[in-house]
Amino acid sequence: MKIVATLGPASTDKKVILELFKAGADVFRINMSHTSHEELVELRKTIRGIEEDLRRPIGILVDLQGPKLRIGDFANGGIDLKSGDFFKLDRKQTPGDQNRVQLPHPEIFESVAIGDQLLLDDGKLRLQVSKVPSANFDGIEAKVLVGGHLSSRKGISLPDTLLPVSAMTDKDREDLAFAAELGVDWVALSFVQRAEDVIAAREIVGDRTALMSKIEKPSAIEDLDRVLEFSNGLMVARGDLGVELPVEKVPGLQKKIIRAARAAGKPVVIATQMLESMITSPLPTRAEVNDVATAVFDGADAVMLSAESAVGKYPVEAVKTMDRVAYEVEQDPAYDSLIHAEEAIPRATGADAISAAAHTVANTLNVAVIICYTSTGSTGLRVARERPEQPVLALTPIPDTARRLAIVWGLDCGLTGDPTDLDDMVERACRIAYEMKFAKQGDQVIITAGVPLGTPGSTNMLRVARVGKNGTVLHKGVKA
Ligand code: PGA
Ligand code: MN
Repeated sequence: MKIVATLGPASTDKKVILELFKAGADVFRINMSHTSHEELVELRKTIRGIEEDLRRPIGILVDLQGPKLRIGDFANGGIDLKSGDFFKLDRKQTPGDQNRVQLPHPEIFESVAIGDQLLLDDGKLRLQVSKVPSANFDGIEAKVLVGGHLSSRKGISLPDTLLPVSAMTDKDREDLAFAAELGVDWVALSFVQRAEDVIAAREIVGDRTALMSKIEKPSAIEDLDRVLEFSNGLMVARGDLGVELPVEKVPGLQKKIIRAARAAGKPVVIATQMLESMITSPLPTRAEVNDVATAVFDGADAVMLSAESAVGKYPVEAVKTMDRVAYEVEQDPAYDSLIHAEEAIPRATGADAISAAAHTVANTLNVAVIICYTSTGSTGLRVARERPEQPVLALTPIPDTARRLAIVWGLDCGLTGDPTDLDDMVERACRIAYEMKFAKQGDQVIITAGVPLGTPGSTNMLRVARVGKNGTVLHKGVKA
């Protein structure tokens, strides 16, 4: 299980980031809602510095703010709405009062329909549209279903309305282009509504960075297969998902999203409120521990910390807690059967055939580690998709591949140049597995690769080898 830790005021120091990494964080998330380009450059430099010092690949995930819709200002700061009240949202720029407020998003007026819900202030207030703009009505009228205090510039979400805008704002486009140019491993897209949003982002980044779609809109769930097809990974963004949909829908959707991503062999991250109480307390609640454990049992690739590591009082303890919970679950007698409850059906490709075979051979021979050569990372993903019981060591000559794979279930990455021939391939694999302590003298290992060596997408061979003295290859007839 991998851990994504969000960086923020509590964790911008090199010392703290290093501690977070040592505590078990594999990927650092930088939230563009709160980070300037200069700060992003600085954080990236710090992380790459740690990577250099420790010689271990570390992933960087930049999270775009996305279109956060907000209402305008009130004349005296805010109002109280009672259920049964009617309230108007319009285009007038004058400050709002008890009866109306500005809604500075023209696209909403064009898309909203009678009966649609309007959720204000993270869903604390709930309204239902009773009138839409027409020749003699210049706004949206809504009936208050759940009232409360509403102050200036609060967020508004429209779970029932498909807005004809891309998920990206101008700021998002700038941040995306900047991050891709700078060089980060993943960019997360907020409030993706459909596959076209991902396609639009892809046009900006090409293959310079992997794209993770945050599933937090009902429309993204309806279009899940296509969103997944065009994304490199998914995030179950439970914070906004639980605002846009009834919160009791979140657990079932979490399982559905994990299942879809696992079937496709793409990483899936579980996010938000995982150890929420650790923002202020050194100990988690039992319910939070159970939540992290559930994500592990479900076979998610990574669990994420948000405020816990960004602004909390105990960022390092939060990572350590996640790491301990994940480790314990992975040792649990029920873990293997639960994680394999769903079978990974191989595609008719060399990579899938070899990955499935590697999993079977690894169990039959009780090997110490599965070692896969991967250049683009796709073979690494296909091996991880099998969720093998043995550790998986992905070897790649490309540092960016190793960083991108840092978020993927069960993969440890090592850097090595392209092998010169088959003997060299086996020798390198055994030596690195030995040096990284995945195999000791006498252990058997499996190596998968593509011949001709160094050709992406050519995975077509599986080799069993035995490690000899000091990480050499033990050849037939020689005693270990
Ligand atoms: P956010 O996304 O933290 O950027 O809002 C995660 C979520 O909505 O859960
Ligand atoms: Mn969100």
